[in-house]
This record gives sequence, structure tokens and C-alpha cells, in this order.
Amino acid sequence: MKVYKFGGASVKDAAGVRNLLDIVKGEDELFIIVSAMGKTTNALEGVFEAMQLSDTALAMQRIDDSFSYHKSIIEELYNEGFVIEPVNALFDQLRSTVQNTIYHKSDAELWYDTIVAYGELISTTIVSHFLNVNGVKNEWVDMRRAFLTNARHKDANVNIEASELRLKREMEGSDKRVFIGQGFIGGAPDGTTTTLGREGSDYSAAIVANILDAESMSVWKDVDGILNADPKIFPDARKIERLNYMDTIEMAYSGAQIIHPKTIKPLQQKSIPLYVRPFGDKLAPGSIITGDVERAYEPIMIQKSNQVLLRLHSRDLSFVLEEKFGRVFSTLESHRIKTNLVHNSAVELYLSVDSSWHIDEVIAELEAEGFDVECRRDVVMVTIRYYNDDLYHRYGFDERIIIKQSTPHSLRFVRTK
Ligand code: ASP
Ligand code: MG
Repeated sequence: MKVYKFGGASVKDAAGVRNLLDIVKGEDELFIIVSAMGKTTNALEGVFEAMQLSDTALAMQRIDDSFSYHKSIIEELYNEGFVIEPVNALFDQLRSTVQNTIYHKSDAELWYDTIVAYGELISTTIVSHFLNVNGVKNEWVDMRRAFLTNARHKDANVNIEASELRLKREMEGSDKRVFIGQGFIGGAPDGTTTTLGREGSDYSAAIVANILDAESMSVWKDVDGILNADPKIFPDARKIERLNYMDTIEMAYSGAQIIHPKTIKPLQQKSIPLYVRPFGDKLAPGSIITGDVERAYEPIMIQKSNQVLLRLHSRDLSFVLEEKFGRVFSTLESHRIKTNLVHNSAVELYLSVDSSWHIDEVIAELEAEGFDVECRRDVVMVTIRYYNDDLYHRYGFDERIIIKQSTPHSLRFVRTK
């Protein structure tokens, strides 16, 4: 069994879906994980934001826009007026969820997940239908039933052990050898829908690969493979042919958009190689990630945006590293806020954390703990792994830098945009 994952960009239009067919045709044992089409997840986040504003009309308008987008893909794949009934049914469900939900901020993550999961439900329904009518007989798998996650909505973790039985049960009754499941989503013990974090489809595919002992996992993307830098930010980006799990996880954690950080562990556990391949050229080698590659040692440059920099100052001059340290982190954790960089002095603590809807609540709680808290929103964190003198001088003296940290292997800073 192989696992193929197709991201949103690779199925953003009818040509992409046809290309997917071309790639999977001829494979006989395959599990395909598909993300939401194009920018659908962003569009559904827009629906959710309208719900947060209690603007139902705006939410409905945004659903209609997304409907038109999918409809035009379907019509281009088949013919004008062609309807895939289950797709329409999903849109109807989405509309009624939005109309019938009374939104409370305390349930923000739950409703977020309920809404954005439709992107993957819709994309997989379209892809499955299209493959079925074009000779690739396949079974649509509902990953809300196959993956048991914890109830940490918007950033759920999959319980792999418990999901093994479930996934196999979903596949068992089928006479098909090709399966299609949604990336990014799962189900909590209480039956609600969860999502695994933005770009989480890679993680979904890795868990499927782990459970099914796949021979390999391939991620089909709109790039040639893994680059050592984001070419939009750092010029001279180059493709890395081979990479080990460790460097990949560090890159992903620092914010590289190549692969979701949670993807690596399930693959490493079973020594499953991961290929990152260009969907425009199915014969190109792409990049390969395995356990037995020497460390990269060539510079890798990553930028993570949407950071919030908190500066905590202990009012009574008690040392932050003593008993308060743990409380700061449990406060952040209780609001599911991820910390990416920590920097401290005797009575000061800087934290670069992912942006969240709960930052203001966290600040209030930290103030109650005896800190003065300053907050700078919309900063970026830059990581240069395996930096050299040249890169240090080129990037390390930017006047926008607020915090700079270096270890023998990496240079990391937080700066304004
Ligand atoms: N559709 C989701 C997102 O855009 C998951 C994914 O693409 O992996 O974040
Ligand atoms: Mg996506």
C-alpha cells in the first residue's frame, strides 16, 4: 500500500483534478488523502469569522461563493449543469449549521472545526466521484469515523492505536483497492468533528501510512521538492534532494511550509520514506526524507509569520524562572497557545507565540499572576539552521530585530514585519 497526499493547490481547478487522475491511474493499492480545494479552508475561515460577528447574511454569502467555485470545477470536469448530489447535500448541511448555531466564544474552536471540515468533505466527494467514473474505482472513507482524536479542537492529535481498528473497519467491507479520505479532520470522543491544525493533511496521510504499514508516502505539491528556503522571502532558494527526519521536523516546526510538523513522527516510527514530489511532473524525483540520510548542514532559512511577542516583567522582581515559569506555560497551554521561542533574564520573560483568539485572556491571567505584560502583535520569527558568517551578517543585523538567539547550529530572531 502507498499513501498519496494531494494538497489544496494540486486540486484547485479541474485541470488539477484531471492531473490527480493521471497520477493515480495504474496504481493498484493506494490510499489517497486530499485537502480542501484551492483556498477553500481560508474561505471557510471567512464563513466562521462572519459567524463570530453574528453576521449570518455575510456567512451565507461566503458559502454561496464557495459553492460557485466548486460548482464551476464540477461543470468543467463533466458538463454544464452537472450536479454531484452529495456535494449539494454537504453545502446544505453547512448552511443549516451556520443558520442554527448560536455562537459562544468559549466554543470558538469547536465551531471553527465544524465549519472548516466541509472543505475536505467536499473535495474528497468530488475527487472520489471523478475517479470512479474514470476507471479508478475507489471507496470514500469518512475520516471523522476513521480517526479518533482528542477533543483539542483546531489542533487535535490523533490516537493512532485507537484509530487503527477504526480505519481498518472502514476499509474492510470494501472490494476496492483504492481509498480516498479527507486530510485535516477527525472525530473527538464525543462525536464532534476536529481538525488537526492548518496544513494538517500531511499529518493525516502520515497516520494512515503508519497504520497501514505503507511502503511509502508521497506528498504531491506545486514545488519541485523541498527547498532550503522560501523563495518568496529568501532569494537563491535551492532544492534539497535528500533530508533526514530530524532536519525536516526542525524545519517544519520553525515554520517552513513544506510539511506539517506532526507528519514526521508517525513515519519515523515505521521507517516509512516520505517523498515530496511536483504534481506537474509525476516522473520527477522530488525530495526524499528518510532516517538514514546524513544531516543536511546546508543553510535552511525559514520564516514563521503571525507571531505575537509577549514581554512579561515580574512586578515584585521575583525571578521568573522559579515557580512562576511553570504557571506561565500552563496558562498558555490551557488556551492552546503554542510557544515558539523563549528568552529570559532575571525578571523578564519574552515569548514568541502563535497568534490566537485568546491572547487577551492570557494577558489578563498573566497580569493576575503578578506580571506586567507588553504585547506586540504581527511579528515574525526567522530561523536560519546551519547558518554561516555570511548569512549572519546578511540577516542578523536587521534593525527590525527585537530578539536574537544563536546556538552553534541555528540562528533565530523575532522581528517586526
Ligand atoms: N485544508 C487545510 C488547510 O488548508 C488542511 C491542509 O491543506 O492540509 O489548512
Ligand atoms: Mg490547504
